[in-house]
Amino acid sequence: MRTAFLSDVHANLEALDAVLSHARADRFVVLGDLIGYNADPNAVLGMLGDAGAFLLAGNHDLAATGRFDVGWFNEVAAAAIAWTRAELDRSVAARLTVLEPMAREGDNVFVHGSVRDPAAEYIRTPDLAAASFAAEEFDVGFFGHTHVPMAYVQGNGGVKEMEIFEGDMLVLSEGVRYLLNPGSVGQPRDGDPRSSYLVLEDGTARWHRVPYDVAATQRKILAAGLPPMLAARLEVGR
Ligand code: ZN
Repeated sequence: MRTAFLSDVHANLEALDAVLSHARADRFVVLGDLIGYNADPNAVLGMLGDAGAFLLAGNHDLAATGRFDVGWFNEVAAAAIAWTRAELDRSVAARLTVLEPMAREGDNVFVHGSVRDPAAEYIRTPDLAAASFAAEEFDVGFFGHTHVPMAYVQGNGGVKEMEIFEGDMLVLSEGVRYLLNPGSVGQPRDGDPRSSYLVLEDGTARWHRVPYDVAATQRKILAAGLPPMLAARLEVGR
C-alpha cells in the first residue's frame, strides 16, 4: 500500500493536480487547510473527492465554516477567508463542515496542527513535539500547519528534530515514535516554491518536491481580487 500524505493545499488547483499525478498513490490523506489563500476552493474539493482522499480540517477550513475564530488570523489570511466563504458552493461548504482536525488509524494519528491542539498549535521545536508525543499514545503522527517539511523522532535520547529536503527517506523502526510533516502542497514556506508531500510505503517515509504552474495560480489569485502578496509569495516559497 502506497499512501501519500499531503497538507495545506489551500485551494491551489495547479499544485494539487501536479502532486496527485506525481504521487501515483493507492491512497491519499490530506492533513487539513484544503482551502484559504488561493483561488480554487471548489475545484480543489472536487479533485480531492475524485481521488477518494481522506480529509482532515485545518484552521482555515474550520474558519470558513464558522468553527474557528477569524480573529486569530492575520489581515491577509482573514481577507482570504472572507473571499472563500463567499465563493464556496453550498455542497462544498457542507462537506467541509463535517471534517475534523484529528483522526486515529490503528497506532497512527493524523492531525492538522499538533496532537495536543489539533486545530491551532504549530509544532516547530523539539519541545513542542515532545508535548504532542506526551498528549496521546501513538507510533507515528502525521501533521501539517507549518507549511515546512519536518520530522521529529522520539527514541531513548529524547526528541530529535530532522530538517527535511527533497528525496529524504526515513525507515520507521519499532519502538521509536515519529511526528512527520509532509510540508505544503499549495503554499510552501521553506524557500522552495515546489509542492511538498510525503509517501509512506513498506514502513519507509519519503519526501518529494514537485514543480507546478505557479504563474497560472498567481493569475487566478490576482483575477479573483485576493491580496496580491498571496500571489507573490508562491514564487519564492515563503
Ligand atoms: Zn495552512
